[in-house]
Amino acid sequence: MNAQAQQDALRSILPGLPTYEDVAAAAQRIEGIAHRTPVLTSRTADERTGGRLFFKAENFQRAGAFKFRGAYNAIARLSPGAKKRGVVAFSSGNHAQAIAYAGQLQGVPTVIIMPQDAPAMKVAATKGYGGEVVLYDRYTEDREAIGRKLSEERGLTLIPPYDHEDVIAGQGTAAKELFEEVGPLDMLFVCTGGGGLLAGSALAARALSPECRIYGVEPEAGNDAQQSFRSGSIVKIPVPSTIADGAQTTYVGSKTFPIMRALVDDILTVSDAQLIDTMRFFIERMKIVVEPTGCLSAAAALNGPVSCKNKRVGIIISGGNVDPQALAGFLAG
Ligand SMILES: *Cc1c(COP(=O)(O)O)cnc(C)c1O
Repeated sequence: MNAQAQQDALRSILPGLPTYEDVAAAAQRIEGIAHRTPVLTSRTADERTGGRLFFKAENFQRAGAFKFRGAYNAIARLSPGAKKRGVVAFSSGNHAQAIAYAGQLQGVPTVIIMPQDAPAMKVAATKGYGGEVVLYDRYTEDREAIGRKLSEERGLTLIPPYDHEDVIAGQGTAAKELFEEVGPLDMLFVCTGGGGLLAGSALAARALSPECRIYGVEPEAGNDAQQSFRSGSIVKIPVPSTIADGAQTTYVGSKTFPIMRALVDDILTVSDAQLIDTMRFFIERMKIVVEPTGCLSAAAALNGPVSCKNKRVGIIISGGNVDPQALAGFLAG
């Protein structure tokens, strides 16, 4: 499917879904601001899989994860008035830091709603990027209600972590850069939580490498995207217990899901033990620190379940934000 056909097909499913054109426009907006992260290779990985693997290293992105791309793009798209009033996000993870940092760079005030028991390091990092942190008790308070109240009182724009067209388009720029750098691929593996990175990557892949097979990868304990993808409607699950904290989402988005259904080939799962093996592989062999969620895509490529033999394979490493002490614990365990 060429880019135009893709766009027509997506628009017919749901008007307002982003297309590759939006990814290309996002790439222009973030150019010179987001890092064009390196593409790494590993002979050990190639020997182990029998394929040729290309790792897009978003652990080196600003604020340590691909989320900066979508956050920056979404804020850049706001009207001057909305920029002046500011934005609000709720997250304890990489999206919060990305919004705070992207807001700071564009002179846009940000309010981040975080749980009282969020790691001190993450709260400090968010404040360090200039975000105003509002803490809430996640056992007794509803963060969405707090977000709505703040946005009404102060006219803030809520930017969700994945279910938003400008966020999806921004996330797609990582895969766009990968294809521009290495050319067409046979397969692409993408870490999957709510599906923003996967949907954006799929838009880029279908336009730039139409034959490429696209696989989302999520934790075995929280396979809601796989269940949703295979059943054809969004399945909600309880909060899964997994070390992949960036993929503990309990359901995929209403905008990410139709893109996944239209463009993705399958959703695969990996175990926490495979994530730990992959973290160790990245440290020992490639000398890089990757957070558990960022290992999902590589864990699938390195362990089956689809063979990479004789294939050119893209792997999006999504982030590198892991607390050193937690990392030591994973490696010791
Ligand atoms: C948010 C995040 C994901 C999941 O991204 P979605 O767009 O929600 O699917 C994967 N890896 C890391 C490091 C993340 O921060």
